[in-house]
Amino acid sequence: MTDPELPKLVLPGDYLGAAEQFLPGRGTYEDRGRIYASVLGTPRVDPRDSSVHVDPKNSIPSVEEGDLVYARVEELKTAMAICTILGTTTSRRRVPGDPEGTIHISKAKEGYTESWSGEFAVGDIVLARILQSRPSVKLSTAAGPLGVVSARCQVCHGLLTLGGKELVCPRCGHHERRKLAQGPRPDLAERPHAGAA
Ligand SMILES: [Zn+2]
Repeated sequence: MTDPELPKLVLPGDYLGAAEQFLPGRGTYEDRGRIYASVLGTPRVDPRDSSVHVDPKNSIPSVEEGDLVYARVEELKTAMAICTILGTTTSRRRVPGDPEGTIHISKAKEGYTESWSGEFAVGDIVLARILQSRPSVKLSTAAGPLGVVSARCQVCHGLLTLGGKELVCPRCGHHERRKLAQGPRPDLAERPHAGAA
Protein backbone atom coordinates (compact mmCIF):
# COMPACT_ATOMS: atom_id res chain seq x y z
CA MET A 1 0.00 0.00 0.00
CA THR A 2 1.12 3.54 -0.66
CA ASP A 3 1.55 5.75 2.36
CA PRO A 4 -0.33 9.04 1.85
CA GLU A 5 2.46 10.96 3.57
CA LEU A 6 5.07 9.70 1.17
CA PRO A 7 5.56 11.00 -2.35
CA LYS A 8 4.47 8.86 -5.30
CA LEU A 9 7.94 8.81 -6.75
CA VAL A 10 11.33 9.16 -5.12
CA LEU A 11 14.85 9.35 -6.44
CA PRO A 12 17.93 7.73 -4.95
CA GLY A 13 18.96 9.89 -1.99
CA ASP A 14 15.48 11.27 -1.29
CA TYR A 15 14.62 11.47 2.40
CA LEU A 16 11.83 9.08 3.49
CA GLY A 17 11.68 9.43 7.24
CA ALA A 18 13.45 9.11 10.54
CA ALA A 19 14.78 5.79 11.76
CA GLU A 20 12.59 6.16 14.89
CA GLN A 21 9.56 6.22 12.59
CA PHE A 22 10.47 3.47 10.11
CA LEU A 23 12.69 0.49 9.65
CA PRO A 24 14.82 0.69 6.52
CA GLY A 25 13.51 -1.87 4.01
CA ARG A 26 14.37 -2.92 0.51
CA GLY A 27 15.32 -0.05 -1.77
CA THR A 28 16.33 2.19 1.13
CA TYR A 29 19.32 2.91 3.31
CA GLU A 30 19.87 4.49 6.68
CA ASP A 31 22.39 7.20 7.35
CA ARG A 32 22.73 8.81 10.79
CA GLY A 33 19.19 8.04 11.85
CA ARG A 34 17.59 9.09 8.60
CA ILE A 35 16.22 6.77 5.92
CA TYR A 36 16.68 7.52 2.23
CA ALA A 37 15.66 5.90 -1.03
CA SER A 38 18.45 3.98 -2.73
CA VAL A 39 16.50 3.41 -5.94
CA LEU A 40 14.11 5.31 -8.19
CA GLY A 41 10.61 4.16 -7.36
CA THR A 42 7.48 4.33 -5.27
CA PRO A 43 7.82 4.29 -1.49
CA ARG A 44 5.45 2.26 0.66
CA VAL A 45 5.22 1.36 4.32
CA ASP A 46 4.71 -2.19 5.46
CA PRO A 47 2.31 -1.78 8.41
CA ARG A 48 3.36 -5.11 9.92
CA ASP A 49 6.76 -3.85 11.02
CA SER A 50 6.66 -0.15 9.99
CA SER A 51 9.40 -0.79 7.48
CA VAL A 52 9.63 1.56 4.54
CA HIS A 53 10.43 0.12 1.11
CA VAL A 54 10.92 1.60 -2.32
CA ASP A 55 9.53 -0.50 -5.13
CA PRO A 56 11.68 0.13 -8.19
CA LYS A 57 9.81 2.21 -10.78
CA ASN A 58 10.05 -0.58 -13.29
CA SER A 59 12.48 -3.26 -14.21
CA ILE A 60 13.55 -1.42 -17.34
CA PRO A 61 16.96 -0.06 -16.48
CA SER A 62 18.35 3.13 -17.90
CA VAL A 63 20.89 1.35 -20.01
CA GLU A 64 20.81 1.03 -23.75
CA GLU A 65 22.08 -1.40 -26.29
CA GLY A 66 25.74 -0.77 -26.96
CA ASP A 67 26.47 0.85 -23.56
CA LEU A 68 29.55 -0.28 -21.69
CA VAL A 69 28.79 -1.13 -18.09
CA TYR A 70 30.45 -2.43 -14.98
CA ALA A 71 28.69 -5.45 -13.52
CA ARG A 72 29.27 -7.67 -10.53
CA VAL A 73 29.02 -11.43 -11.04
CA GLU A 74 26.46 -12.68 -8.52
CA GLU A 75 25.85 -16.26 -9.55
CA LEU A 76 27.22 -18.71 -12.09
CA LYS A 77 24.81 -21.18 -13.62
CA THR A 78 25.86 -23.78 -16.18
CA ALA A 79 25.30 -21.59 -19.21
CA MET A 80 24.64 -18.19 -17.67
CA ALA A 81 26.35 -15.68 -15.41
CA ILE A 82 23.87 -13.57 -13.43
CA CYS A 83 25.21 -10.08 -12.79
CA THR A 84 24.16 -6.83 -11.13
CA ILE A 85 24.77 -3.80 -13.31
CA LEU A 86 26.60 -1.24 -11.19
CA GLY A 87 26.97 1.64 -13.58
CA THR A 88 27.92 2.73 -17.04
CA THR A 89 31.43 3.75 -17.95
CA THR A 90 30.27 7.13 -19.21
CA SER A 91 28.50 8.32 -16.07
CA ARG A 92 29.87 7.97 -12.59
CA ARG A 93 26.37 7.38 -11.25
CA ARG A 94 24.92 4.04 -10.40
CA VAL A 95 22.22 2.63 -12.62
CA PRO A 96 18.97 3.00 -10.59
CA GLY A 97 17.33 -0.19 -9.41
CA ASP A 98 20.46 -2.36 -9.54
CA PRO A 99 19.25 -4.08 -12.71
CA GLU A 100 20.18 -7.63 -13.39
CA GLY A 101 22.01 -8.61 -16.52
CA THR A 102 23.00 -12.00 -17.81
CA ILE A 103 25.99 -13.18 -19.78
CA HIS A 104 25.47 -16.34 -21.77
CA ILE A 105 28.55 -18.54 -21.69
CA SER A 106 28.87 -18.23 -25.48
CA LYS A 107 29.27 -14.45 -24.99
CA ALA A 108 31.92 -14.64 -22.28
CA LYS A 109 34.84 -14.65 -24.69
CA GLU A 110 35.55 -15.21 -28.34
CA GLY A 111 35.55 -18.89 -29.22
CA TYR A 112 34.08 -21.80 -27.33
CA THR A 113 33.83 -21.73 -23.53
CA GLU A 114 33.15 -25.03 -21.85
CA SER A 115 32.83 -23.86 -18.25
CA TRP A 116 33.13 -20.72 -16.15
CA SER A 117 36.26 -22.01 -14.49
CA GLY A 118 39.13 -19.77 -15.55
CA GLU A 119 36.73 -17.12 -16.92
CA PHE A 120 34.67 -15.57 -14.12
CA ALA A 121 34.12 -16.13 -10.42
CA VAL A 122 31.34 -14.86 -8.18
CA GLY A 123 32.22 -11.38 -6.91
CA ASP A 124 34.28 -10.40 -9.96
CA ILE A 125 33.63 -7.00 -11.50
CA VAL A 126 33.39 -7.21 -15.27
CA LEU A 127 33.39 -4.60 -17.98
CA ALA A 128 30.67 -5.67 -20.40
CA ARG A 129 28.71 -4.40 -23.38
CA ILE A 130 24.91 -4.34 -23.43
CA LEU A 131 23.71 -6.59 -26.26
CA GLN A 132 20.03 -6.14 -25.46
CA SER A 133 18.38 -3.89 -22.89
CA ARG A 134 14.78 -5.11 -22.94
CA PRO A 135 12.84 -6.99 -21.88
CA SER A 136 15.87 -8.33 -20.07
CA VAL A 137 19.44 -7.12 -20.09
CA LYS A 138 21.90 -9.31 -21.94
CA LEU A 139 25.61 -8.64 -21.73
CA SER A 140 28.73 -9.71 -23.55
CA THR A 141 32.36 -9.70 -22.48
CA ALA A 142 33.57 -11.41 -25.67
CA ALA A 143 35.58 -8.54 -27.19
CA GLY A 144 39.22 -8.18 -26.15
CA PRO A 145 38.92 -4.99 -24.06
CA LEU A 146 35.99 -6.48 -22.14
CA GLY A 147 36.06 -8.95 -19.27
CA VAL A 148 37.11 -9.05 -15.64
CA VAL A 149 38.54 -5.79 -14.30
CA SER A 150 38.60 -6.69 -10.60
CA ALA A 151 38.75 -10.12 -8.97
CA ARG A 152 39.18 -11.47 -5.50
CA CYS A 153 41.16 -14.52 -4.40
CA GLN A 154 38.92 -17.57 -4.08
CA VAL A 155 40.99 -18.72 -1.07
CA CYS A 156 41.41 -15.61 1.10
CA HIS A 157 39.36 -12.89 -0.71
CA GLY A 158 42.42 -10.71 -1.21
CA LEU A 159 42.30 -8.44 -4.27
CA LEU A 160 44.17 -10.25 -7.05
CA THR A 161 46.89 -8.49 -9.01
CA LEU A 162 48.12 -9.30 -12.47
CA GLY A 163 51.35 -11.31 -12.60
CA GLY A 164 52.21 -12.08 -16.21
CA LYS A 165 49.12 -13.67 -17.81
CA GLU A 166 47.75 -14.93 -14.49
CA LEU A 167 46.28 -13.28 -11.47
CA VAL A 168 48.20 -13.67 -8.24
CA CYS A 169 46.99 -13.09 -4.71
CA PRO A 170 49.50 -10.83 -2.95
CA ARG A 171 48.26 -12.13 0.40
CA CYS A 172 48.37 -15.92 0.01
CA GLY A 173 50.13 -16.46 -3.33
CA HIS A 174 47.20 -18.29 -4.94
CA HIS A 175 47.20 -18.15 -8.76
CA GLU A 176 43.96 -17.78 -10.69
CA ARG A 177 42.85 -17.28 -14.26
CA ARG A 178 40.09 -15.08 -15.64
CA LYS A 179 38.82 -13.75 -18.94
CA LEU A 180 40.53 -10.43 -18.32
CA ALA A 181 39.75 -7.11 -19.96
CA GLN A 182 42.71 -6.40 -22.22
CA GLY A 183 44.17 -3.21 -23.58
CA PRO A 184 42.90 0.34 -23.18
CA ARG A 185 39.84 0.66 -21.00
CA PRO A 186 38.40 3.14 -18.53
CA ASP A 187 40.45 3.77 -15.45
CA LEU A 188 39.73 1.09 -12.89
CA ALA A 189 40.24 3.44 -9.98
CA GLU A 190 37.27 5.48 -11.15
CA ARG A 191 34.78 2.67 -11.50
CA PRO A 192 31.60 2.94 -9.45
CA HIS A 193 31.90 1.65 -5.94
CA ALA A 194 30.67 -1.94 -5.85
CA GLY A 195 29.47 -2.18 -2.27
CA ALA A 196 27.25 0.86 -1.81
CA ALA A 197 23.66 0.45 -0.63
ZN1 LIG B 1 44.60 -15.28 -1.42
